[in-house]
Amino acid sequence: MLPAACTVRVVVSIDGVRDQALGCTKCRLAEGRTNVVWADGNLDSDLLFIGEGPGYHEDQQGIPFVGAAGQLLDKLLGEIGLDRSSAAIVNVVKCRPPGNRDPLPDEIEACRPYLEAQLAHMRPDVIVTLGNFATRFILEEKIGITKARGHIYERLGAAVIPTFHPAAALRGGKFGGMSPTDAIRQDLRRARAALDARRGARSRPEQEARPLPAEDVQASVPAGSAPPARTTAPEEQEQLGLF
Ligand code: URA
Ligand code: SF4
Repeated sequence: MLPAACTVRVVVSIDGVRDQALGCTKCRLAEGRTNVVWADGNLDSDLLFIGEGPGYHEDQQGIPFVGAAGQLLDKLLGEIGLDRSSAAIVNVVKCRPPGNRDPLPDEIEACRPYLEAQLAHMRPDVIVTLGNFATRFILEEKIGITKARGHIYERLGAAVIPTFHPAAALRGGKFGGMSPTDAIRQDLRRARAALDARRGARSRPEQEARPLPAEDVQASVPAGSAPPARTTAPEEQEQLGLF
C-alpha cells in the first residue's frame, strides 16, 4: 500500500491525445465530418471556454468558434481585455453533428476522454461553459443554462461560470430583462474577476500549489478504422436546445 502522503500522477501527453482524436472514428459523427475540431487558443492557459460542437465553418476549417458565434465570442473576449492567445477554446464533441443537431448522449460519452484529457492537461483556474451541453458536462447535473447562469460553481479545482451560448445571443430575445449578449458580458466580467483573483492568489508566496484534478484520464481509441466519408456542404442550420 502507498503511504498516505504519496500521490500517483499519470502524465498525459496532450499532443498524443490530439493525434488520436484527429483520426478518431469512435462515434457516428466521424462519418460526416470534414475535420476533427480539436482546440484553439492556448491549452497551457488558465482559462478554458467549452462550447457544444463544431458547426459548418468549424468543420470546414478544423478550428472551433470561427463562424458568427465565434466572432461574437472574440468581440466579447476583447471587451474583458483577452483574446484567443490567453484562453483555450474547445467543444464537448470534436466532430460536427449533421445539420448542427444537438450531440446525442452516446456521442458525448464517446468523445468524453478527449475533453477530460484537455481538462487534466490544463487544470484551468476558470472554466466558462457556453450553453447547456458544456454546462451539464462540467457540473455533472442535468441543469438548464437559464437556471445555471448567474452562479459560480467550483469543480475540478476551477471556478465554473456557465453562460449562454453565443449562438443563442445572436438570436436575440430577453432573459430576466436582459439580452443574452449582455448576460454573457456580465458572466465574462465575472470570469475575468475570478481569473484575476486566482492569479493574484497564486503569485503570493504563501499560497499553496493548485490541487490536482480528482481523476486521471486515459483516452482509449480503437486503431485501424476506415477513414470517414465526406458529405457535400450542407446549409448552416440553427442549433437547437440553446436555452
Ligand atoms: N458552436 C459551438 O458550440 N462550437 C463551435 O466551435 C462553434 C459553434
Ligand atoms: Fe469525433 Fe469525438 Fe466522435 Fe471521435 S468520439 S468521432 S472525435 S465526435
